[in-house]
Amino acid sequence: MKKLLSWLLTLAWLFLGAARGASPVLIRTDFEGASLGKVESIGDDCFRLHVEGQSNEFGRNRQATWYFFRMDHVRGRKLTLTLTDFEGEYNGRPACAMNGELRPVYSLDGERWTHFEAMEWDAQAKEATVHLSPESDTIFVAHVPPYPFSRLTGLIQTIALEDFVFDEVIGKTCQGRELHVLTVSNPAIADSEKKCVWLQARQHAWEAGTSWVMEGALRFMVSQNPDAIRLRDRVLFKFTPMVDPDGCASGKVRFNALGYDVNRHWDEVDLRSKTALSRMPEIWYVKKAVTQFHSAQHRIDLMINMHNTETAEYLESCVDEEVASAPLIRLFASLSEGNGFVPSRRLAFVPASGGTANDLWWSHRIPVALMELRISDSQKRRGHFPTSSDRLEFGEELIRAMAKAVLEP
Ligand SMILES: [Zn+2]
Repeated sequence: MKKLLSWLLTLAWLFLGAARGASPVLIRTDFEGASLGKVESIGDDCFRLHVEGQSNEFGRNRQATWYFFRMDHVRGRKLTLTLTDFEGEYNGRPACAMNGELRPVYSLDGERWTHFEAMEWDAQAKEATVHLSPESDTIFVAHVPPYPFSRLTGLIQTIALEDFVFDEVIGKTCQGRELHVLTVSNPAIADSEKKCVWLQARQHAWEAGTSWVMEGALRFMVSQNPDAIRLRDRVLFKFTPMVDPDGCASGKVRFNALGYDVNRHWDEVDLRSKTALSRMPEIWYVKKAVTQFHSAQHRIDLMINMHNTETAEYLESCVDEEVASAPLIRLFASLSEGNGFVPSRRLAFVPASGGTANDLWWSHRIPVALMELRISDSQKRRGHFPTSSDRLEFGEELIRAMAKAVLEP
C-alpha cells in the first residue's frame, strides 16, 4: 500500500512537471533494496524525503536507518534534498537514526558510491539536507553503500566453482529466499587437523557495510594468495554471509518480513518449535546450522557476528571462561593494531546477551562475539567515511586476524 502511494505521488509529480513543460525529476524505488517513504516537492529542484523505516512485530522499535532511491532527469539541476522522519525507538527507547556525524552516499551508476562532501544537520527538526548538481541524468542516493542480495548470489556462484568451497543452502526465509552457509577449507586435509572460525553478516538488512567486509573476507580466502592457501590447510572457514536476504532484497531495516528482529530472540528460538520456525526461519535455520555443526561435527573456536552502528566500534561477548576467551582477546589486540578496526571502547565481556547471537555462548558454549563497525568517519584511521573498498580490505584483515587468533597457542 505504502509503495503504491509512493508510486502515485511520483506519478503525480511527473504529471505536474509535464504540465509545466519541464522535464520533471522522477524519484524511483522500483528496484532491489530500494526504500523511501513520502516524497514532498517544494519547487522543481527541492524535495523533502521521508525515510520509510521499519517497525517490529508489535509496531514498536521503528528504525529509520535505510533509504535508497534513484532520481531521474536531474542533469544540470541544483537539487536540494532534505531527509526527514528519522525518529523512532531502539530497545523500546526513543532514538534517532541520523545525526550530524553521518553523511549519505550518492552514485551515478548504482555501483560506485561517494559520501556527500557536506550535509546540514538540523538537530531540532532532526533533518539532514544535502545539495547536489549532477552532471548525469540519473543519480542514486543511499544511507550507506548498498550491497544487494543479487551481488551475494553472483559472488557465491563464482567462488563455489572452486574445489575448496562448499556452498550449502540450509533453509529458506519467510519470503522463500535461500539461506547459505559457505565452507572454505582444503578438503584433502582432515578437518580434525584444523581449527574453525565462523563469520556472520547481515542479520540487519541496513548494515550493508558488513556485506562488503564479508565479500573481502571471502575473496581473500578463495584466492591463490600463498597465505590464503596455507590457511585453508589449517583452518575450516565457515560463513553465513547474509542472514536476512528478504530485508536486503526489499529495502528493509532490521526486522524479518514478519517483524522479528533478526539479532534478538536467539535465546527464545527453540529448534523443536514449529512456531519459532514459522516466525523466524532466518534465526531458526542459522542457529540449527551453527549449533549442530559445533555439537556434532567440529568445535567452533571463534565466531564473529558483524553489525554496523552509527559512531561506535567494538567487540562484545558473553564468554566467561578463560580458554574460550583467549582467541577473542588475541583478535581484539591484533585488529586494534591494524587499520580497519578503531575500537571506541575496550573488549567487553558482559553476561547479558540481550537475545542476540551472543546467546550461542550460553546455549551451546560457542565463543561468539558481536562486532560493531561504525559508519561514521574515524579521524584517527583514514580521515574519511568508510568506503566499500575500505570494507573489502578490512574483510581480508579480519579473516586473517581470526585465523591467527585461533592458530596461536
Ligand atoms: Zn545490527
